[in-house]
Amino acid sequence: MRWTAGDRSNIEDVRGRSGGRGIVPLGVGGLGIGGVIIVLLLSMFTGVDFFSMLGGGSPAPDSSAVGTSGSGTPVKTTPAEERMVDMVDAVARDAQQTWSEKLGSRYEPTKVVLFRDAIQSACGYAGAATGPFYCPGDRKVYLDLGFFDELQRRFGASGDFAQAYVLAHEIGHHVQTITGTEGRMRQMQRSDPGSGNALSVRLELQADCYAGVWGHDASKAGRAAAGGVELDPGDLEEALAAAAAIGDDRLQKLGTGRVMPEKFTHGSSEQRRTWFKRGFDSGDPGSCDTFR
Ligand SMILES: [Zn+2]
Repeated sequence: MRWTAGDRSNIEDVRGRSGGRGIVPLGVGGLGIGGVIIVLLLSMFTGVDFFSMLGGGSPAPDSSAVGTSGSGTPVKTTPAEERMVDMVDAVARDAQQTWSEKLGSRYEPTKVVLFRDAIQSACGYAGAATGPFYCPGDRKVYLDLGFFDELQRRFGASGDFAQAYVLAHEIGHHVQTITGTEGRMRQMQRSDPGSGNALSVRLELQADCYAGVWGHDASKAGRAAAGGVELDPGDLEEALAAAAAIGDDRLQKLGTGRVMPEKFTHGSSEQRRTWFKRGFDSGDPGSCDTFR
């Protein structure tokens, strides 16, 4: 994947002030490590923070631990991490460009909040183990860059386009919030609680398809020369491998050794690959109607 570093205007960098006092560390709040892993699986890639739902601690933000501005707070980092920040900014800019072209004036820009270890969002407390998530409450994407190592080491999905897919998926959730799909889905879940997981799968697969819609744009030649993100040969395979790596069946196997389709919240590996590819091939959000 080729891209150019920009001004980081798509990033809200709170790496220097997250994970400080007032945040309950992982493993506290009655969850053993097994519980943390299960909650990690449940929370992965959702806008739902199962940590806070479990009452694992939603402390009020400790104002004395919070700096005045994220970017003004010094943060210990490495050149490799800073390059990752630039990549996240470039992908977020590019994906949002695609969606503002598709949705026109209906599109509202979002930001990727970069945090370390733990953060208090409008959706509650989130630890790094929650994985990247989108919070409909404040309409922002949350990411601990450590997740990209996790993606590679633990889930075996490597490559920068695998990382870009994860981001594009979260931005897909932002699109669902703007278009009202997310709100309608939550309403349906409330009126028919038994349908909760099945509806969640549809929402997640649509976000995968939306990630593919952006991938379609990013695969056009000449984009890098124009300052955008441009895919290299092999990038599509990276994203498909990543989609497969985080399918519910695979995660359940990793976590519990068994596959329980009735507990799927994101879709199987095969479903995730299929819907990403559908968006990628068509470039048309209209092809992403997972609710039909
Ligand atoms: Zn998701």
